Amino acid sequence: MAELIDHPCVQHKLAIIRDVETGHKRFRELATEITKFVCYEALKNIKTREVTVETPVAIAECRKIDTDIVVVPILRAGVGMLEGILELIPTARVGFVGLYRDEETKQPVTYYESFPRQVEGGTSIVIDPMVATGGSTVAAIDILKKNGADNIVVVCIVTCPEGIKVVEEAHPDVRIYAAAIDEKLNEKKYIVPGLGDAGDRLFGTLH
Ligand code: URA
Repeated sequence: MAELIDHPCVQHKLAIIRDVETGHKRFRELATEITKFVCYEALKNIKTREVTVETPVAIAECRKIDTDIVVVPILRAGVGMLEGILELIPTARVGFVGLYRDEETKQPVTYYESFPRQVEGGTSIVIDPMVATGGSTVAAIDILKKNGADNIVVVCIVTCPEGIKVVEEAHPDVRIYAAAIDEKLNEKKYIVPGLGDAGDRLFGTLH
């Protein structure tokens, strides 16, 4: 299941980040800004507990977040979304998943994984700007579940029907939150219209 964050403030930023003329500095800033909005929505149902706070005027009944939050960027493009999430939740812990695609089998292969123990019992946020084929998203969720995670959301900038279907079939319990659900994948597995190679645009490695 995917949820589109169709707010004008997000859609305005999306129009700029998609633009081929947007350079890597601005692209990075926009990735941070969009991520913060999308993640804000993705966390709307997380566990809270009631607390009592003494204001200068009276006692207020308030709520505080009551779950460990672990952010898991998929290397490398996911790193470009990390700052936005940490601005929203400065106490979040960070895990990493590194995947590459085997050119023969076309399947994702894990070359790096590192998680804090709080994935067990906490809330994990998988971040990757583009959920395209969905293959690496599914692989990252598989690894997280093997490490004990059972409460997982995916935050991305752009996805497409093919990617959503693949994630939904493998992990029906995991919801994808996106600033855009685009039309399709092209023959090179790029999202159309998308925004190009998110890693290259984030890190200035376009040739
Ligand atoms: N990864 C990207 O960076 N862009 C796409 O369009 C698809 C996958």
